[in-house]
Amino acid sequence: MSMTLMINEKHLLCEIDVIVSFGWREDMEGKSEGLAIGIDLGTTYSCVGVWRHGHVDIIPNDQGNRTTPSCIAFTDTERLIGDAAKNQVAGNPTNTVLDAKRLVGRRYGDPSVQSDIRMWPFKVIADPSDKPMIVVSYKGEEKQFAAEEISSMILTKMKKIAEDYLGTTVKNNVVTVPACFNESQRQATRDASVIAGLNVLRIIKEPIAAAIAYGLDKRADSVGGKNVLIFDLGGGTFDVCLLNIEEGIFEVKAIAGDAHLGGEDFDNRMLNHFVQEFKRKHKKDISGDAKALRRLRTACERAKRILSSTTQTTVEIDSGYEDVDFCSTITRAKFEKLNMGLFRKCMEPVKKCLRDAKMDKSSVHDVVLVGGSTRIPKVQQLLQDFFDGKELCKSINPDEAVAYGAAVQAAILSDENNENVRDLLLIDITPFSLGVETDGGVMTVVIPRNSTIPTSKEMLFSTCHDDQPEVLIQVYEGERTMASDNNLMGSFVFSGIHSGPRGAPKVNICFNINVNGILIVSAEDKTTGHKNEITITNYVGRLSTEEIQKMIQEAETYKAEDEERKKKVEAKNALESYAYNARRKIKDEENIGPRLSAPDQEKIEDAVRRTIQWVEENELAKADEFENKMKELESICNPITAQVYEGSGDNIRGGMDVDPPSAGE
Ligand code: ADP
Ligand code: MG
Repeated sequence: MSMTLMINEKHLLCEIDVIVSFGWREDMEGKSEGLAIGIDLGTTYSCVGVWRHGHVDIIPNDQGNRTTPSCIAFTDTERLIGDAAKNQVAGNPTNTVLDAKRLVGRRYGDPSVQSDIRMWPFKVIADPSDKPMIVVSYKGEEKQFAAEEISSMILTKMKKIAEDYLGTTVKNNVVTVPACFNESQRQATRDASVIAGLNVLRIIKEPIAAAIAYGLDKRADSVGGKNVLIFDLGGGTFDVCLLNIEEGIFEVKAIAGDAHLGGEDFDNRMLNHFVQEFKRKHKKDISGDAKALRRLRTACERAKRILSSTTQTTVEIDSGYEDVDFCSTITRAKFEKLNMGLFRKCMEPVKKCLRDAKMDKSSVHDVVLVGGSTRIPKVQQLLQDFFDGKELCKSINPDEAVAYGAAVQAAILSDENNENVRDLLLIDITPFSLGVETDGGVMTVVIPRNSTIPTSKEMLFSTCHDDQPEVLIQVYEGERTMASDNNLMGSFVFSGIHSGPRGAPKVNICFNINVNGILIVSAEDKTTGHKNEITITNYVGRLSTEEIQKMIQEAETYKAEDEERKKKVEAKNALESYAYNARRKIKDEENIGPRLSAPDQEKIEDAVRRTIQWVEENELAKADEFENKMKELESICNPITAQVYEGSGDNIRGGMDVDPPSAGE
């Protein structure tokens, strides 16, 4: 017996019996205390901002960089996040995870996932529910991570960057996702935040965040609103989005783009150019040497960035290949020539967006540059030419605009009384149509795409068969005609339907989305008044609450391990520098050397030698073992040096010149 629904819109009923809530844990939702940050969780780079003292601060990381690579690495001894992870990728490609955002909320069998996996050096497998799992070796053991967990590690890092800068803990955030993300991808991003210990105030679309950053919503009071084109060219993805903004309502008119076009492609073109040059100059082919290529690629990315502000730069690598140094120059003109085809390709989605929205380019009020790669002057020029010389919005750094807008939104949501941001309060809309599968596998839309939230819609359905006792209510999101082409969000069986010929029973289904975007689907048989209490909180492939709890605990463990590792590196560095300094000082004629007796010098030298040997043999020792060794060494050296320093005012550690410990991130 088929259990699909038949649609019958003639009657209207309005009681809610069965509540099926999709979405996140409500207890985590919407409430905020203290500062809230905005995070742009990018495919290649992430960025964090905060609204303070009436403006947005984009927060630099511990390396002083305002964006942080979305990169996690696992080694035999530690886990690395951000710049530290990216810097070691050449030597550890199979355990360095990049681009995990491409997997978020997707199935392993998804063709886009399959094509990505073929390109990646790290391993990805399917779990029993067809969820992609990243496989790495960490501390000598095989570990599997869901994309949400990798994203959560990046979010943890961004949270830490903000906390170090603000000097306080941060609990709340607004996180951004691409406009093309469906509900499962949005939920997976939300889950990643929860695992990272962050309360999600709201998930907003990257192009909308960029529009907010420019305050375009405030200036959109004219009749018909404003049409804004967001041009987002990042590291590995390219998104174009046409928005209409009117009275705080953002409507996505069209989206287009290329999931595999961005800065990395420009790096590759330059890389190939230098590989050819190396061949010509040195008669050697480095293309088979993964490590040499990685180093050259890193140098190319750096050169590319420099060429956005100067017209010529050098690319240098010591012992680039087989001990041959590599040094060459590249001009901006050459770089543009290498990439002209790709730059032109970037204009296609712009045209497509306008075509889809049936809009002429002269109707576009603002063109906003987003993504690090829009700093390339040629890209800006092509876009400006296309819009007949129109000034582009580029007063905010393009690689920071999304985080900037997210920070503004976070401020709005965490402090509604804030004068400066109050008028920015904006209304969210449903990104996709929501509906149920009906007879013949058809998607019947209950809430159309771009409905403003909160919203509630009802529709009356009936059975397809005589005396059908139950129906399977399957909730989908998407724009395709056939339900199976859309994204299944969840389903439940509604039973106890009043017996009768097909088409006679009346099942009322109500979709209700509250202010926080939580969807509640309810059904009721008006004749029997039957109630089913079924709650579904997971879409297909979504992490369960238990899994998330487990990941939160694991995240704590990793954090503790990272801290232990940092402490250890600090303790080891302190011990080594104390030992080496002690040795230098007793040998140094200018220093305490001459003032020590020969046996005392020998005593220190002996202790130093034993310490250094111990360090070499105990690479895996723990922080406190290094600290104990330090005490041991100090207890030998200090009484001796104390005699020398007596009266000199120097303290003993100072006398030994212990360098400030520098922990390898
Ligand atoms: P995501 O794709 O993760 O959103 P971004 O928008 O931060 O990332 O873009 C990252 C890309 O921007 C990288 O390929 C980086 O090399 C490139 N990029 C950053 N700064 C510049 C610059 N000054 N000139 C050219 N490209 C840049
Ligand atoms: Mg981006």
